[in-house]
Amino acid sequence: MYSEMKSALQKPTRKYTYREVDESEVVSALEDIFVIRPQTLRNICKHFVDELTLGLKEDGHTLKMIPSYVSHRPTGKETGSYLALDLGGTNFRVCEVYLEGDSKVRLTQKKFTIPDYAKCGQSDVLFDFLADSVLTFITENHIPTESDIPLGFTFSFPVNQTAIDKGYLMVWTKGFDCKDTINKDVVALLNEALARKNVKVHVTALVNDTVGTLMSHAYNDPGTFVGVILGTGTNAAYVEKVSAIPKWKGGPVESGEMIINCEWGAFDNERVVLPFNKYDQKMDEESTNPGEQTFEKMISGMYLGEIVRQVIVELVQRRILFGGVSSPEIETPYKFETAYMSRIERDHTSDLLDTKMVLQELLNIPYPAPRDRRIVRRICELVATRAARLSAVGVAAVVTKMERVEDGCTVAIDGSVYEHYPHFGNRMKDALHELLGMFEENVNIVLGKDGSSVGAGVIAALA
Ligand code: ADP
Ligand code: MG
Repeated sequence: MYSEMKSALQKPTRKYTYREVDESEVVSALEDIFVIRPQTLRNICKHFVDELTLGLKEDGHTLKMIPSYVSHRPTGKETGSYLALDLGGTNFRVCEVYLEGDSKVRLTQKKFTIPDYAKCGQSDVLFDFLADSVLTFITENHIPTESDIPLGFTFSFPVNQTAIDKGYLMVWTKGFDCKDTINKDVVALLNEALARKNVKVHVTALVNDTVGTLMSHAYNDPGTFVGVILGTGTNAAYVEKVSAIPKWKGGPVESGEMIINCEWGAFDNERVVLPFNKYDQKMDEESTNPGEQTFEKMISGMYLGEIVRQVIVELVQRRILFGGVSSPEIETPYKFETAYMSRIERDHTSDLLDTKMVLQELLNIPYPAPRDRRIVRRICELVATRAARLSAVGVAAVVTKMERVEDGCTVAIDGSVYEHYPHFGNRMKDALHELLGMFEENVNIVLGKDGSSVGAGVIAALA
């Protein structure tokens, strides 16, 4: 029965018109491809813990497990005013962070959009753009610049960090591709750009957004041991014992602990445990970094909409959806945004009228029938649920690695996917329960809003 349903989908056949393929057959075949069962979750989690351990042992493994040079968590008593710059992937923000000393923070910020020409051109173009934005911000906010202002730079790409204010870019991700930045110290690049523009600001700390999120939340909750990003990309950082980091060659660390940036987006680039399917593969092949960031590509905001689009395009080609009628928009890579999925999953009208609006007005599908809208909604649900469940695997693996399953801890999560995608948190919680049983209750997952920016201020204060 099941195999018949599947073959109905798999045959690129002219014999079937879309009317002949029953909605439930289409849906069950997709479920077969996208649903991750509890046993598979557990297998992935086990492999994840092994990979975390391996990455701490020596360089050259899939998980880079980068020591952040942040070895003290905040007390909540730190005070002062710091500049922070947060380059995440989609959003770029310049902020002034005021630490009030009683675990409270005030934040003034301005968002900028990074133009495409700056993402993939010469390094100097990108860093000049960043420096110009800092200048705009301090001018607009009348920030006095008699003395050099310390700035925490949240730079959320894999860097080989060699000091709190030094880090060499290993590889671009999330659609960035300025070739001449690779192997350069991004702090020096930003300081040089600031000097070129005569901006009296000096970078004192280089921060990964995951580390920032952890530190920012730890400023008011000392039980915070993990910071996670679920935004354009995905990644996590956690508190590790220095004695458990064999590759650490940086000398004794007073606190005995070090925050590790896992760079977990690269998990399973070997593709041995993740159920990376034909739609994922197609998206991957057409991406700027094929073969890389496998875990990230199944989870984060940059890719979820594109996976949904790949499924839709295939179903249209097979005349299973929209009567086989496509549109230039739906044929365009990345045109189906992850935010559309959020909107579609929030559509509780009986005829899925908002889904119809998205399909007709944003994607130019002439007549999406109610049946088609239901299928599209189900595709979104399947892709997003898989993402949430895989995110939970990452969290469970890190908590297991820290041996905090029984004692518990707070996991702070920042990023638009976690913040805005409906049910994302609950779907994660369900999967965590499948993985940890009753211990799931010990893992306190919270939204660490603005953590990646505020954390840069907190770390600048500690530096
Ligand atoms: P960054 O990763 O640049 O720090 P965000 O955390 O805001 O920025 O994440 C941006 C990503 O979140 C985008 O890739 C976008 O696809 C996704 N996104 C934006 N709005 C929504 C939404 N309403 N629902 C789900 N995802 C969203
Ligand atoms: Mg961010």
